[in-house]
Order: sequence, then structure tokens, then C-alpha cells
Amino acid sequence: MDFTIRAEYEAGQTPGEPDARVAVWHMSRGDDPRAMCGADLAKEAATQPEDAWGTDAAHPFCSVCGAAYIRSLPR
Ligand SMILES: [Zn+2]
Repeated sequence: MDFTIRAEYEAGQTPGEPDARVAVWHMSRGDDPRAMCGADLAKEAATQPEDAWGTDAAHPFCSVCGAAYIRSLPR
């Protein structure tokens, strides 16, 4: 299963614009714009590779998605 970190924007921002302010980063599965927490994110939203999870680049991160992601990892 591939995961993608996907942006949720502050109100009034245009998803995908390079200077749009990100409110919080979520985790989604593959190309699905729905986050693991259930949030519907824009198809145009900026994405980051799964590896960015836990780094400053993906801060702040949705705590619900973070917990769901941890549970989904192989152990
Ligand atoms: Zn989330």
C-alpha cells in the first residue's frame, strides 16, 4: 500500500497554488484525495512522499491520520 501526504489549506487558499498556506497535512492512500481521518481533500492539493511523515516539512500533521498511519505500518 502506497501512502501520500496531502495538504489541507487554510480558508480562502487555492489548493495547489505554490504559495497557498497549508493548515494541516493529512495521510491518504495512493491517489485517493480522501484522508485516512475522513477529510475530503482537493485533488489539486500539494502532496509529499510518505517519507516526509514526522519531519518539519509535514508539520503540523493531522493526529488522527498519524495514528491511523502508525497502525497500518507493518510491524
Ligand atoms: Zn487527517
